[in-house]
Amino acid sequence: MSLHATEQLINWRRELHRNPELSNQEFATTERITGWLQQGDIRLLPLGLKTGVVAEVGQGEPLIALRADIDALPIDESTDRPWKSQHPGVMHACGHDIHTSVMLGVAHRLKQQESSLPGRVRILFQPAEETFNGARQLIDAGALEGVQAIFGMHNAPDLPLGELRTRPGALYANVDRFIIRLHGKGAHAARPQDGIDTIVIGSQIVTALQALPARMFSSLESVVLSVTRFSAGNTWNVLPQSLELEGTVRTHNDAIRAAIPQKITALINGIAAGYGASAELEWIAGPPALINTPRWAEFALQQAQESGYRTQVAAPQMGGEDFAFYLHQVPGVFVSIGSASDFGLHHPAFDPDESIIGPAVNYFSQLAPRALAAVDHDRQ
Ligand SMILES: [Zn+2]
Ligand SMILES: [Zn+2]
Repeated sequence: MSLHATEQLINWRRELHRNPELSNQEFATTERITGWLQQGDIRLLPLGLKTGVVAEVGQGEPLIALRADIDALPIDESTDRPWKSQHPGVMHACGHDIHTSVMLGVAHRLKQQESSLPGRVRILFQPAEETFNGARQLIDAGALEGVQAIFGMHNAPDLPLGELRTRPGALYANVDRFIIRLHGKGAHAARPQDGIDTIVIGSQIVTALQALPARMFSSLESVVLSVTRFSAGNTWNVLPQSLELEGTVRTHNDAIRAAIPQKITALINGIAAGYGASAELEWIAGPPALINTPRWAEFALQQAQESGYRTQVAAPQMGGEDFAFYLHQVPGVFVSIGSASDFGLHHPAFDPDESIIGPAVNYFSQLAPRALAAVDHDRQ
């Protein structure tokens, strides 16, 4: 990336950062991205998206895709940077402004080499990653049609600049959410024998749920169950009639994921019945585990080394990423690139180092034509 071009991308990143928009409301962001792509005469696909943009460079086959996410979070920024968010309560605290500027740079770079590109590169600027429904919207709009491999990145504040990690197979987890509703019988706090105390039963359910990862699945499998909300009652001298528990389950293995709702149901029904209460489970399935195609993971690491990154094979993580939806449809890989922030993703003081941008543009601009060549080789 030339110095001039990198400065331009940093300016664009700062403009995005000053003007963050929440998931599915990225209207001004979409307009900005569209304008910046049009400045380079880059072709846009008419997919009829409410927010988000899909661009394409090159001609013919094969076709690969690159993806950036564009949405921000409901967080009040606490940095004192000149490019701090101008929208109170909304912040690019996950660095999607960085990802967007990187893929803008790649689009412009590839456009300059368009005549020598051995195929087409489609660049997805995806809305609503944080709410895990943006990838689905793009897939439904046809953004993956004809795509033979897809590549994406996330900045990693805990990694130093110049470091890139990924792994073959499961990188991120299945992300599921649950709500448990308990129905007992209200009573005066002084006469618990007249009621069915949902707080005591709910407490036992929280404890019992901890045995699910520890005692119902092999210790070699990754299962995390966290209860994150325990809501009941509204005063000091009444035992509440009902109670709600909420939380999340994270897994990597699909068979284990599928077995968990029945196990939770059996546990909560058994405990509730022992006290004459009743319980029900609402299970809200989120994005699937992100499973990198081994061959493309090795390719991405190899390209990274050739591009000057220090590389490491990442450990699997229990977080989620809606790029996983793409990888359920086409092969590909998602990589983490060091952004060296003292504060982590989703923190109000998150402040990634902008010098991540130039090398990342170089990396994907070099990877894309080589991936086209490798895809084509596959078909012969
Ligand atoms: Zn995030
Ligand atoms: Zn993110």
